[in-house]
Amino acid sequence: MIIDVHRHLVIKGTVQRSYILGASRSFSMMYNKANKTNITPREYIDDIVRKEIDGQADNIIVEMDKAGVDISVIFAVDYGLLLGEAQIHIFEQNKMYADIARRHTGRMIPFMAIDPRREGGLKHCEQAYYEWGMKGFKLHAGVGYMPDDPVCNWVYEKATEWNIPIMCHTGGAPAVPLRWECSRPSYFASAAARYPDATFILAHAGDIGWWQEAMQAAAWLPNVYLDLSLWQKPYRKMAPEQFYKWLRHLTDMVGADKIMFASDAPHPNFHLRLPEWAKVFTSLGKEFSEEEKNLILSGTARKVLRLGN
Ligand SMILES: [Zn+2]
Repeated sequence: MIIDVHRHLVIKGTVQRSYILGASRSFSMMYNKANKTNITPREYIDDIVRKEIDGQADNIIVEMDKAGVDISVIFAVDYGLLLGEAQIHIFEQNKMYADIARRHTGRMIPFMAIDPRREGGLKHCEQAYYEWGMKGFKLHAGVGYMPDDPVCNWVYEKATEWNIPIMCHTGGAPAVPLRWECSRPSYFASAAARYPDATFILAHAGDIGWWQEAMQAAAWLPNVYLDLSLWQKPYRKMAPEQFYKWLRHLTDMVGADKIMFASDAPHPNFHLRLPEWAKVFTSLGKEFSEEEKNLILSGTARKVLRLGN
């Protein structure tokens, strides 16, 4: 079984224009380096990203089937207080994610994206949890709050009470005025230490700059986990043996029961499509035990998502 614990839908009106414009500068640069092309940010949006738009996410199911991915955890990102509201308000987007997960019952698990500073955030999340069946939180502190600031406490309290995980963006960000320092794993680690009964997932395992910090948090704190999304990009730049060596080290330090397969599609998908990314892990060599492989592919996620055995 394979579970992708980090994925976004591509739906018109869900992401702010200013984010798309800024991000396309970074993403086209990365795309060009990975694929030895020379496309402009505009072409990146028009020719690459637009193709992925699907309001019902049926195309994602097709791709998951091709990759052998059984379940994807899906969520939006709440950039509204920093960039202005998206065409579709984040509350409505969360509902949309819940509806799409219901359309693909058993294949998709929806998390609620929320900026904890939002007025009405708690009430909205209560509805999302109790009525729409959403199964986790998604925080992107880069919009301008510190993860260990008391403004976030209600999210950590509810995550504890409802026994659902919190997906936390850690690592870099594209050319958009996000506050990088808010996405350092250490700040989430401080919050996780204060809320030992809440489950924290450090998305992207800290990314290429802060993975050691994320590794340190997962090694120390029983309630901190890592997802491997975004690592398609460094994978493409390394020799495969080098990537496996890195993963071996990470596994040695924190244990495979702290590590989860993930994509963060759509963007990293343009560096390495989901079927190839899944294959990197299904074909892990004998440096990894069968048990470790299964934990990374789905076992750890099953525990974090409380899916039972
Ligand atoms: Zn993401």
